[in-house]
Amino acid sequence: MSTTVCDIRFADIQLLRYTVEGFSRLTLQQKLFVYYLSEASLWGRDILWDQNCRYNLPIRHMLESVYKEGPGSESQVSSWEAFETYMKRVWFANGIHHHYSMDKFQPGFSREFLEERLREIGYPVDKELMKVIFDPDFMPKRVNQADGDDLLQTSSMNYYAPEIKQTEAEAFYARMKKADDNRPPMYGLNSRLERNDEGQLVEHVWRSGGMYGPYIDKIIFWLQKACEVADSDQQRGVINTLIDFYRTGDLHTFDQYSIQWVQQSQDEVDFTNGFTEVYGDPLGLKASWEGYVNIVDHRATKRAQTLSDWAQWFEDNSPVDARFKKTECRGVTARVVEAAILGGDLYPSSAIGINLPNSNWVRQEYGSKSVTIGNLTRAYNEAAKGNGFHEEFVLPESLPLVNGQWSTQLDDLHTDLHECLGHGSGQLLPGTDPDALGAYGSTIEEARADLFALYYIADPKLVELGLVPDMEAYKSQYYTYMMNGVLTQLVRIEPGRQIEEAHMRNRALIARWVMEHCDAMQLVEHEGKTYLQITDYEALRPIIGQLLGEVQRIKSEGDQEAARRLVEDYGVRVDAGLHREILERYKALDLAPYKGFINPQYRLIHDTKGRVVDVEIVYGESYDEQMMRYGKEYSIKD
Ligand code: ZN
Repeated sequence: MSTTVCDIRFADIQLLRYTVEGFSRLTLQQKLFVYYLSEASLWGRDILWDQNCRYNLPIRHMLESVYKEGPGSESQVSSWEAFETYMKRVWFANGIHHHYSMDKFQPGFSREFLEERLREIGYPVDKELMKVIFDPDFMPKRVNQADGDDLLQTSSMNYYAPEIKQTEAEAFYARMKKADDNRPPMYGLNSRLERNDEGQLVEHVWRSGGMYGPYIDKIIFWLQKACEVADSDQQRGVINTLIDFYRTGDLHTFDQYSIQWVQQSQDEVDFTNGFTEVYGDPLGLKASWEGYVNIVDHRATKRAQTLSDWAQWFEDNSPVDARFKKTECRGVTARVVEAAILGGDLYPSSAIGINLPNSNWVRQEYGSKSVTIGNLTRAYNEAAKGNGFHEEFVLPESLPLVNGQWSTQLDDLHTDLHECLGHGSGQLLPGTDPDALGAYGSTIEEARADLFALYYIADPKLVELGLVPDMEAYKSQYYTYMMNGVLTQLVRIEPGRQIEEAHMRNRALIARWVMEHCDAMQLVEHEGKTYLQITDYEALRPIIGQLLGEVQRIKSEGDQEAARRLVEDYGVRVDAGLHREILERYKALDLAPYKGFINPQYRLIHDTKGRVVDVEIVYGESYDEQMMRYGKEYSIKD
């Protein structure tokens, strides 16, 4: 059953299905564990929608009411089609702003059309919601990272009450930090910052009985069910501590949970559930909700485990100042897994590698757990086969290299290196504030992990360990990485815009910095088109090592000014002419730059006495069926 490619396309999106091959080999108890955790993963969806923008949920409820009733007899076909596209985009982005560019969607239908359709179905027309949807200048961006702006006032995310200024919020959190605390909780992670009646700033904490309480109670309910069928006492302990955190909102409990979670790594089924990544907050403090469940892939895990067994060797030999290295690499556990369900900020668009926890001191003292999600990569690769992308953008002389038999394997290896070793490497100097890089922190952290991966993917050690066949294989990875950084990732950016997302800034930063510092890599023109040319691959590695050393220094010392210069000089700006060319060439290929996934469905099978005898996995659901069902089954309307 491999129905990965499904033909759902709209706007800049293509949807794929992923299959969960490992599910069938689980015991009934383990299948139930997956089922209960899946429910816990789906119940946080509306939390994320509200975090992304405070208007998202009322807008979705309104749009879904219209969608459910269909076009109506008087509607223009073109208006209805534009409405469907808008609905699908909003679903995909978990809100009214693009999931990647963060720009507000511009509807392709008129305000009159929507208001008329609402009146026809008897749904109240809300002036404020109309303004949010149709006024392009109101809440234009979910997360604004532009240097010099008040990042809170210019971002529409819902992590801070609307009137709160960046300087106030920063001062509020700066006051919480104690200079002598070596194990600080991640202040601000699980709350919305608001102003009380006396005008003081206060945190509205996300917990049972607090903000998002009804949803968190549902999550707790399903976690408790999962606890009853957990494989081990250790796993039960992890879940109970998480429940404790959801009840109290105490961030020290969250750290305890993270420590237990990172130490628990032997079970067949594992999960993430909670307030996790901070990319949605321009200040990088507050975490969006995400949840997913995974099943270990034993064979592929062996490959990743080999890397982490050698973690200390990689750390010792990295081109980084000795003061910034870890003297003892602890517990980098690496697994290759299959996703069984994706929820919250991992759905429908998902990461393919995840390394947690995010707390610096927990990572330093207890290590981190790194996963590569193999069945998602598989789905991407199947969808990309023969779509003409490489033929268009790779310099003809480099095409055999890039399409060589090892290139897919090298992509996986890059992800493993990035996740299991890159993020886990290095250390802060004593006294360095982990948030010292401010808005540049995420980009610098991603650059660090990518540079570590790029540096080592060309190391003879990998041949020795049997992970790559020879000292030629890495070249395809160097070519595609750099091509993406200087050229092809521009297809994800609207004309006239700059690079804003942290991972993209990181790739641009690395590729352009290397190009500026290395004669062996340049842009060339061939038959009127721009290509990347690399004339000497071996010359690239020391340059990559040099940048890795600098980026690690910036992180270890908390050198915000150097971070700012590096990111602003290399990671942000877009050459308008080149951008236009790349967009035109890309458009001619008719491909979707963003992909996401439709989840499978899990169903309990009962016998005649009503006992559960099996859990069935079903793949057939369509995109809009799934979205409408989630909206109905995992939503609490007040
Ligand atoms: Zn990363």
